[in-house]
Parts: sequence; structure tokens; C-alpha cells
Amino acid sequence: MAALGAPNNYVPRRILKKLQRSRTDSEPYQDLRNKLQILAVKSRTKPAFLGFPAGNTGLRQLGALLDLHQKVTAAPPPHFTKRPDVKDSFLKASMDVLCPKDPVLWLYSDIGVESLISRCIDGVLNEGYVLGYPRCCVEWHEAMRVPEMESCFRQIEERITTDPQMLKSIPGRTEMETYRFILLHWRVPYPDYALETTRQYPFAPHWACPSCLSRESNESEKLNNQYNELATNFDPKFAQAIERAASDSLRAYKESWTEESKKPNPSMDLLGNPLDTE
Ligand SMILES: [Zn+2]
Repeated sequence: MAALGAPNNYVPRRILKKLQRSRTDSEPYQDLRNKLQILAVKSRTKPAFLGFPAGNTGLRQLGALLDLHQKVTAAPPPHFTKRPDVKDSFLKASMDVLCPKDPVLWLYSDIGVESLISRCIDGVLNEGYVLGYPRCCVEWHEAMRVPEMESCFRQIEERITTDPQMLKSIPGRTEMETYRFILLHWRVPYPDYALETTRQYPFAPHWACPSCLSRESNESEKLNNQYNELATNFDPKFAQAIERAASDSLRAYKESWTEESKKPNPSMDLLGNPLDTE
């Protein structure tokens, strides 16, 4: 196990051991990714780490262990390049679902990052930049949010038209509440870019854009290599564990989704409960 980063960011071995034993998430791959990203903040490879929820004791303990600044704020609102062409009630419901109510936790080394965090909370800056993600990926995801929301809206409207029984099983009183309930229970597969990022760039802290996934851009590859090096310098076994956990999580996801997709039963509601057919 090597010392981490530049001499001023030296982390004693006993602290690194505590870090390995700590738990930040019940899902092993997410837990290891969190730890790697927090190490990246300590070594100043990454400006800030955003953790959810703020009360996650594993994240708070790691922040304290590595002597990082901690800040609790409301979740930053999602960015849109333009207003999606959907009903107002659907837009409100989507924002409600997309933007968590619980506070989030920021961990950072440099106090100068605080003004950038404030700009994220104010909705002026996409948090991807504060989290050290490549510009091509941040811009692509931001632009994709509009067509993704419009497509989701069309699919839900189509389902309501072809399966009016479904609405009977939904407890919402207003249109907004109904949409909110549907969105919370809408079964969608993981997007391809997320699965491909896990396969190609298991150390990367973000979801790569199509340019990065087709190797037209090398930004995600560079970041993945940088994080791989950081993990390997920390402990080669830690780096190996991340690669293994990434492929395990891909396999588990593919199996669970294959099972899920065998259940397109029109007599079930969104929760999988039998519909009242009277
Ligand atoms: Zn990219």
C-alpha cells in the first residue's frame, strides 16, 4: 500500500485501512466507487464528491477520516437546455421525482470549491463540473434530458390510453400526483450508456457520453485511467476489487432485468399487483 498523492496529501496507512473497512453503500460496486471518488477528492484529482443522503454515516465518517470539508445542502436541481414539451403537471411531477427532498453531502479539499457548490444549488452551474466530469459528457447528458423526458411522457400517455384500467390502481388525487406515482413505479431498463460505462470505464466517476463510448473523445478514458492509477497506488487489490465488482454488478443487473422483462403482464398494475377488473 503506497502513500496517496503529493506529500501534502499524505494519508497514513492506518487511515487507509480504516477506509477499506468502512461502508458507504449496501451495493458493493457503489461502495467501492464512493471510496475511490473520495480518495480522488483527497488527492485533488476531483474537486468535490456529492453524496446522498447527507445522513449517510459511512460517507461522513470517511470525510472526517480524510480530513475533508463537509457541507450539507439541498440537492442541486437538474439542468435543462430548454423546457421539455410535456404537460405542466408532468413536468412538476418529474422535477419532484428527479430532485431528491433529502439534503445531500458535499466533501471537498479546497475551500474555494464552496462558491461553485453554491452556484449548483442556485441552478446556475451543472454539478457535473464541480464533480470533475468531462465537459463532453456533462453537455451531452444535459442536452439529452429534454428528449428523454419527452419520450417518457409519450410512453406513459400511450400506456394510459391503451390501458385505462391502470389508472384505477393509482392512488393520486390530482393529475400531478398521478404522474408522480406512475414515474416512481415506471419500469425502465438501465440506459445503455450506464451499462457501457461500467463495462468500458469501471473506475470512472460519471456516465460517459456516446463520443467517449465510441472513443471519438478520449476524455472518459483519460479519467478512467487516472482513477485506475489512483486505486492501484492505494492498493492493487482495491483496484482489482473495483473491476470485479463492476462486472458482478453488470451480471446481476442483466439477470434481474431479464427476469423483470418476462413479466409484461397487462393484468398487473405498475406495482405488479393484480388489477381490479370489475
Ligand atoms: Zn464524453
